[in-house]
Parts: sequence; structure tokens; C-alpha cells
Amino acid sequence: MNTILEVFQNAGVFEIIIFGLLINFGIYLCSLGLYSVLDYFPNKQTLGDRQPILRSDIVLSLITVLCNTLVFILGVYLWKFGLIKLNQESSFLKIMLEVLSLTLVMDLLMYVFHRSVHFLRHFKQFHERHHEHESTNLLSLFVLHPIESIGFGLMMLGVLLFFPFSAIGISFYLILNSLWGTIGHLNYSILPESWLRLAKKGYLCTSEFHYLHHQNPGYNFGFYTSIWDLIFKTIHPSFIRKQ
Ligand SMILES: [Zn+2]
Ligand SMILES: [Zn+2]
Repeated sequence: MNTILEVFQNAGVFEIIIFGLLINFGIYLCSLGLYSVLDYFPNKQTLGDRQPILRSDIVLSLITVLCNTLVFILGVYLWKFGLIKLNQESSFLKIMLEVLSLTLVMDLLMYVFHRSVHFLRHFKQFHERHHEHESTNLLSLFVLHPIESIGFGLMMLGVLLFFPFSAIGISFYLILNSLWGTIGHLNYSILPESWLRLAKKGYLCTSEFHYLHHQNPGYNFGFYTSIWDLIFKTIHPSFIRKQ
């Protein structure tokens, strides 16, 4: 990882843009690939009809990748200028603790951000496009208003400005984030009933949890966990009943 950081430290604007595009298009293609592969899962349980893919979904999903690339470039420059500090020591335990703490901090911020865009009049318009998907498809995760994509990215950079994490810890978090987002937008459940109960008891968001949000936008604002929905009583009643 240190070698990669040295490359970034010495790279010019053009190289950083290319790196950013490669990384973000890579994440996009991995998400689409995983979604397509999981489609062949033998014992999946369908949650509802799949949202048809529109041409405008494809365009908007590509714009989201470009927005994510912009956030990435900003993050690299904030680091180059010494505003974002990266932790150098990285034992396995420390990396795991970093991933866990970054996930939990972002979980709370994303709950607040998500609930705000639903209820604050001026923000609502930015989230409406995502909710044109009353069901979900392989692009739903990326069908976001550019302000929303950049808002999420800035929120993460804001956390990194205040707390130093290692580059590898941030990378693992971003992988986890894409994985969770992809699974969250499946229109079917792949976990067996016993695993599903375990995930719910562990307050983890499942495909069903976010699918219910697309169908009933007044509930289930959490992204990684259902903790904040339980505390603030915004969890969908049917999700509680099935626990
Ligand atoms: Zn969604
Ligand atoms: Zn929403």
C-alpha cells in the first residue's frame, strides 16, 4: 500500500484523474458483475418485481461514477496538501477496528443524511430520482442525483479530515460499502431464513430491509445497520414482526 501511496504522491493531475476513473469504473463494474452473478443464486427468494432499466438510468449511473471520481480526486489532493492524514501503522487488528469504526460513524451520518433528504423540502428533490425506482435493479445503487453522490463523498472526506485512518482501512471500508450497497439493492433475498434471522438480530441491513425502503420511503433509512431506525422508530413494522 505504501508503494501505491508513493505513486499517488508523485503523480500529476492527469495520472490522478486516470487512476480515479479506473478505480471508480472498477467498483461500478464489480457491483454490476456481483449483482448479475447473484441473479443465478439457486435458492433466492424474490422480494418483488425488478425495476425496468431505462436509458436515463444508465446515463445517470455513469454520471455517479464521474461524481465519485471527482470526490476521489479531491480526497487525493486533500491528502497531498496534508489536510487528510493517513495512519501509517497497520496491524490486522488495527485495520479491522478502523473498518468497524469508520462503518459505524458513516452509518450514523448516512442515517441523518438519508432521513434529511426525505424530510427537508429543499433536499427532497435530490433524492427523488433514486426513489423513481419503486423496486430495484442492478443500477439502482448508482441512480443518484449528482448532488447526492457528491454529498455522500464529502461526508466521508469530512470524517477523514478529523480522524486519521490507514489507506488500507479506507479501501476495505469502500469495498464493504459497495458490497453492502449492491446487496441492499437486490430485489431478492439470497440468505437462508436462519441466516436472515441472525442478520436481523445483529441489526444488519439486508436486501429486504432496503427493498422495503424503496416500497415504503417513510421507513428504513439505515444503510449498514438498522440500529438508528430502531432507536428513532423508523423501522418498517413488517421487518420487526419477522425478527
Ligand atoms: Zn436505494
Ligand atoms: Zn430514500
